[in-house]
Amino acid sequence: MKNLKSLCLVFILFIGNAGALLAQNYGSNKDSIFFKQLFDESLLKGHSYARLGELCKQIGARLSGSDAAEKGIQWATKMLKSYQFDQVDTQLVMVPSWERGNIEKFQMKSPVFDRMLKNSADRENGIKHISSMAFPNSPNAYYECENYLSTIKKISKYYALPACALGGSIGGKVEAKVIAVNSKTQLDSLGKIGQLKGKIVLLNRPMEESMLNTFNAYGGCVNQRVNGAVWCAPYGALAVLVRSVSNKCDLHPHTGVTHYEDKITKIPIAAVATAVADVIAYLSINDPSFTLQFELDCKILPDRESANVVAETKGNQFPEKIIVFGGHFDSWDQGEGAHDDGAGCMHAFEALRLLKVLGYKPKHTLRCVFWINEENGLRGGTEYARLSKVNNENHIVAIESDRGGFVPRGFGVDSSILPNVLKFQKLLNDYGIGKIEKGGGGADIGPLKTVNNNTAFVSFIPDSQRYFDVHHAETDVFESVNKRELELGAAALAAMIYILDQELN
Ligand SMILES: [Zn+2]
Repeated sequence: MKNLKSLCLVFILFIGNAGALLAQNYGSNKDSIFFKQLFDESLLKGHSYARLGELCKQIGARLSGSDAAEKGIQWATKMLKSYQFDQVDTQLVMVPSWERGNIEKFQMKSPVFDRMLKNSADRENGIKHISSMAFPNSPNAYYECENYLSTIKKISKYYALPACALGGSIGGKVEAKVIAVNSKTQLDSLGKIGQLKGKIVLLNRPMEESMLNTFNAYGGCVNQRVNGAVWCAPYGALAVLVRSVSNKCDLHPHTGVTHYEDKITKIPIAAVATAVADVIAYLSINDPSFTLQFELDCKILPDRESANVVAETKGNQFPEKIIVFGGHFDSWDQGEGAHDDGAGCMHAFEALRLLKVLGYKPKHTLRCVFWINEENGLRGGTEYARLSKVNNENHIVAIESDRGGFVPRGFGVDSSILPNVLKFQKLLNDYGIGKIEKGGGGADIGPLKTVNNNTAFVSFIPDSQRYFDVHHAETDVFESVNKRELELGAAALAAMIYILDQELN
């Protein structure tokens, strides 16, 4: 018995030492202590959430080309200067300017809808009846769809649809019958036989709910929002409604960029809330008298001056080599641009602050950038890359955070630096950020690819399940961001910057 005890003790000591030896490789004591300090500082004394609150509540939406965006840039510059980084500056960028205008009217007339409401002795039952007919394949729609009851009530009361112009749409006024389609193939076959002529087309393809990565699902149907007007106008359509690209069934339309082509007639285009898209589709088939009034007074104004905002800590050993990281400062004009992409900007600012406040002396220059005009032009990212070429800058790594302020899961990493990152796999796993995917990038850092072949790209990957609930909608407000989740994201970004600064020469 005694011998067995000693044997166990020896075994335990052996295991303990082996663990210590292993830990001394990558994710060594030094690294794990620093990771702990980064996360502690962010979670206990973080600044990301408070600064995001100021940005959202004092400035709010920051559509590029708007006065609010300019006010925001002044706020950001002053805020970053207050932290005494080695350098804080702005880069002039000319940006497009588009205004939503004051009129957004989507009024429907439907005798079938009238009758459904009137014929029902019990109004609630009537509403349930409509929901079951509008969602024939989803018997539980009435319960699953948040706000569905109020949606139907709202439509029935005002017959006004929750919809909004897409960014870049022209203004216009039409009243016409609606035709709903679910795919480009269906659109083309109906268009070729003249079925779209003189109509308002509803592009109603939903996000693929079975896809675990919601960005892939978004990618699978966002083309109808971007190309809707160009697809429908050649077939004689008068206007386009697009089902909001969102996983959530609710009352909020989700805007986003749309585009026109020079040789194709421009027609107005708007997004409609997911909760009513199927109702419209239902009525378009079941009510021969169903029509929609559609009126927008959007304006395209001349380009105006704006700016990227840049803050940096100079490198100790290789000051000419830059690790750049950031998000986009502009947002859509709905909501407050909290997740998209106030969160990404605050991740980047906070990562720079965390490293500074912990006394970390980086080998390379660490540069945080708030890019302007990602949403409707990408002029900020493009100008940043152009200037980096003019100034002969050497970016060794570019990291983008533009997927919201949700729980961090990991990173997309270019294969050229993948081995360096994988050495830290265990430590990253300990913080729940060990999901390392091959291949990194992002919209704003993308243009750097054209000016420097040696830059390695990294994308910050938070959990994607709830991002498209609020993306580009009036619900993307400060309250939709969780404090801890934002702080974990900022620390995760700082940890990745630390790894790359340590590993690369
Ligand atoms: Zn974004």
